[in-house]
Amino acid sequence: MTSFYTGAEGCPYPNPSTSVQVRNPSGGVGGLVLLQDTQLIETLAHFNRERIPERVVHAKAAGAYGEFECTHDCTDITSASFLNTIGKKSDVLLRISTVGPERGSADTTRDVHGWGMKIYTDEGNQDFVCNNIPVFFVRDPIKFPSLNRSHKRHPQTNLADSDMFWDFHLGNPEGIHALMHLFNDRGTPASLRNINAYSGHTYKFTKEDGSFKYIKLHLKAQDGVKNFTAATATKVAGENPDFLTQDLFEAIEQGNFPKWDVFVQVMDPKEAESYKWNIFDMTKVWPHKDYPLRQIGVLTMNRNPQNYFTDIEQAAFSPSTMVPGIAPSADPILQARMFAYPDAARYRLGVNYQQLPTNRSKAPVYTPYQRDGFMNFTDNYGADPNYVNSSLKPTTFKAAGKINSTITEHEKWVGEVSSFTSEITPVDFEQATALWNVLGTQEGHQDRFINNLAGHLSGAKSAQIRSRVYEYFSYVDKDLSARLREVTEAKVAA
Ligand code: NDP
Repeated sequence: MTSFYTGAEGCPYPNPSTSVQVRNPSGGVGGLVLLQDTQLIETLAHFNRERIPERVVHAKAAGAYGEFECTHDCTDITSASFLNTIGKKSDVLLRISTVGPERGSADTTRDVHGWGMKIYTDEGNQDFVCNNIPVFFVRDPIKFPSLNRSHKRHPQTNLADSDMFWDFHLGNPEGIHALMHLFNDRGTPASLRNINAYSGHTYKFTKEDGSFKYIKLHLKAQDGVKNFTAATATKVAGENPDFLTQDLFEAIEQGNFPKWDVFVQVMDPKEAESYKWNIFDMTKVWPHKDYPLRQIGVLTMNRNPQNYFTDIEQAAFSPSTMVPGIAPSADPILQARMFAYPDAARYRLGVNYQQLPTNRSKAPVYTPYQRDGFMNFTDNYGADPNYVNSSLKPTTFKAAGKINSTITEHEKWVGEVSSFTSEITPVDFEQATALWNVLGTQEGHQDRFINNLAGHLSGAKSAQIRSRVYEYFSYVDKDLSARLREVTEAKVAA
């Protein structure tokens, strides 16, 4: 089928492959182009503006559409509409990314993998912004930019820099547990279809009667977790930097739809007060034996994007996007991300980013007190009042108690306003040690972990930094530290 070509204003244009020129009278090639050649000017000017700002973090990604199916009765813990009936299905958008490297970087670079998931429910969008590791490197949000800069490029050399990376982590040692995740096999997934995802954050599931539970979200690949060794990941990065993106696209194209079982861990607020770990500290998990996984659904990704830019690059996710029945907890990183993510979207996509097709709610939207702004392409609520409490056209709304998403009457917070000190104690190393022991149950995994870590650390030029890292890991396990020193220093000497 042919398409009739026009300019962006709909006017028929002549041949799009030919500019208008004043020809050289002696014939042949060459001539002056004209400012009046609108087709040429528009073509070049639009090309100059094709790129929108790259995400500062999570720039390289693959994505797809699919569905979430509620598979278990959850009505005892949440009033969320998409979870109120077994068998109920909601459309989903999923974007899986690395974190630090730029848009053109290799998929198999060792990194945490981000998991932006938008569930288009019948009561508006529910975003979950997860990672493939269950914990984070810091617990005070003010450290977030520093953390990410230390994982990126040195301000002078513009190179990734091991001294800078380890200098940051030595100065902010609460990240030890997340480092144990980053440098084990799961830091280099073999397929995006074979990673798990975790909310990391504690959220609340709320009910209309005002009660709530604390929850953490887990998604586990039905086909299991599969990883590359560091050597394979490096080789694949050279041969096909887009390997994971291609793998996901082709699998879905072939009808080989990836699926995840979706679970929550559930904690009663009373237990939270006396639990051995602070449940708002994102460097800690809730052990499975204390809080077993309870299934709520299944996620299936079954439709590729039709256009990467429209569907995936313009997608915006935020942990502040929550439906009635789900609410934030007092996790400081979550609270800060609830500001930072929409703020990033406003910068990157503009103030009306929620109107873009991939972000648009499938439930009716009526937000007449949020209007105008760049690139508003709705009817902008016509003549409807743009102020609250109008008697001319009153609005109805759902009572706060029926939503609970930002209503905190059922929690009481009393305390002094003070600077948050992220004091480090031996408790910060306990779960890192637990993971080291988990790796010990998997054939060769501790050795691979040490090799992965040594490969990175041996890039640090400062012997003092390397020595402090050995001491740092000795708080996880003495043997780990001794083996790390031996392998790293051998690599440095080689
Ligand atoms: P268990 O001792 O009950 O089970 C071990 C868990 O380790 C598994 O459930 C699995 O999580 C996870 N695991 C296995 N291999 C790896 C790996 N290479 N990298 C990361 N995680 C792996 O777990 P606990 O709950 O007692 O926690 C022990 C440690 O396991 C924690 O300190 C934490 O580091 C890690 N972990 C814990 C999670 C939690 O939410 N409790 C979640 C993920 C890891 P999964 O089934 O999710 O793949």
